Amino acid sequence: MARRTCASTAATCTRSWSRRCASGSRTRSGLGHGWSVSKIKLKIENAPDLTGDALVGADGVHSIVRKTLFGPDNASFTGEIAWRGLIPIRSLPERMQGMVTSNWIGPHGSVSVYPVRAGTLVNFVGLVERDDWRVESWIEQGETDECVRDFRGWHEDIHLMIRLIEQPFKWALFRRTPMPQWSKGRATLLGDACHAMVPYLGQGANSAIEDACVLARCLDEDKDVASALARYEAARRPRATELVVQSAQQSKRIHDPVLADPEKALKYVETNWAPENVKGRYDWIFDYDAARVAI
Ligand SMILES: Cc1cc2nc3c(=O)[nH]c(=O)nc-3n(C[C@H](O)[C@H](O)[C@H](O)COP(=O)(O)OP(=O)(O)OC[C@H]3O[C@@H](n4cnc5c(N)ncnc54)[C@H](O)[C@@H]3O)c2cc1C
Repeated sequence: MARRTCASTAATCTRSWSRRCASGSRTRSGLGHGWSVSKIKLKIENAPDLTGDALVGADGVHSIVRKTLFGPDNASFTGEIAWRGLIPIRSLPERMQGMVTSNWIGPHGSVSVYPVRAGTLVNFVGLVERDDWRVESWIEQGETDECVRDFRGWHEDIHLMIRLIEQPFKWALFRRTPMPQWSKGRATLLGDACHAMVPYLGQGANSAIEDACVLARCLDEDKDVASALARYEAARRPRATELVVQSAQQSKRIHDPVLADPEKALKYVETNWAPENVKGRYDWIFDYDAARVAI
């Protein structure tokens, strides 16, 4: 029995993993545990224990399940923060109400805006190089004036949007080395818990959904839980690792200092965003089909 006491912003809980060896039979996972486990137990503070066949840690970037299985992670601050905020689409001028994604790139910063909630809101994500904020959290609020200062000198449309954000939030961006292992016996990880990535390709949530789809298929096909989780990891980890690596590379491309010079910037954009280059960077992402990929 292994027991750890853990705390998080969402909840404080104590979890324990039952590690009884089941009559010495080996799992087929080959993922380090070596011995099969009959059940897995989750202890939740102020609530009854939960016992089940499998545990999927989909508890985000500060995952307690990950820490319990594999120890602390290796996060390093990127020197960038993300401003996030929602804007009622009707408050924008009509020319900015289209159902399209817009990306703005510049020296040391970038902005992406896209409609969400059935086109009633626009999500604003502004990424900027800044090294005085180190909190990686969905709920940390910032001030409008602070966001305005971070985008000083940017196009008036960016400032128009910033002023219309009802509550700006700020999130410090951390880079993590891809994990060499996600699963142990009957426990595995999913989404940011195992492959948190900087948001420059906009693939964090997408890849969590892909994980869930492939995991469901593996559990459906393989009645041996540890073996199903190992198949899930084998199918998903290479792609998720590549997304983590390429997301980090993309930040350099869209924040290049050359973008401060209008003439050089034009050439830079024409080269880097030439259709064949864009295809090379994105086709492998969008051609993937989690419902059909081999498992
Ligand atoms: C600025 C920014 C912009 C982004 N833009 C995009 C984008 O355009 N496209 C995209 O695909 N992705 C984007 N992402 C990434 C995306 O938001 C994440 O990858 C995604 O939310 C991960 O989903 P998840 O379910 O793994 O984790 P989360 O969404 O973090 O969900 C984890 C859940 O677990 C819960 N939890 C945590 N700890 C505990 C606990 N101890 N007990 C109980 N519950 C717990 C949390 O409350 C939460 O509900 C962006 C991220 C950032 C920071």
